[in-house]
Amino acid sequence: MAYWFLRGLGHGIVTTRYPKAIDVWTQTLPTPPAFHSDRLTLALADRLVAVCPSRALAREADELVVDLGACTACGRCIDEGRGAVEASGVFELASTSRERLVKRVRIGGGAG
Ligand code: SF4
Repeated sequence: MAYWFLRGLGHGIVTTRYPKAIDVWTQTLPTPPAFHSDRLTLALADRLVAVCPSRALAREADELVVDLGACTACGRCIDEGRGAVEASGVFELASTSRERLVKRVRIGGGAG
């Protein structure tokens, strides 16, 4: 931290380039959930919605709506998911389009 502060003083406001390679330690970071559509039921989807503290999940009819822009990767839905939910392993989610962060998962399988 002190290095970056002193560097900023010496060179003015600076930012660094995005890294070309992803560090190995980042594999331990919590990541947003991925859902197995065919393992989801309406009851399970409702439980997932209920445990999500950031309201990143909602059910609309037979779809689970996942707002990755609101997800904090807390893991509660993964714990509750009973094999239907797992960590995606993906943390590079930046997008210039808010809509691209909202995913729809068909409950019970099938195209969504
Ligand atoms: S990881 Fe946490 S914040 Fe993200 S969808 Fe699951 S319960 Fe919600």
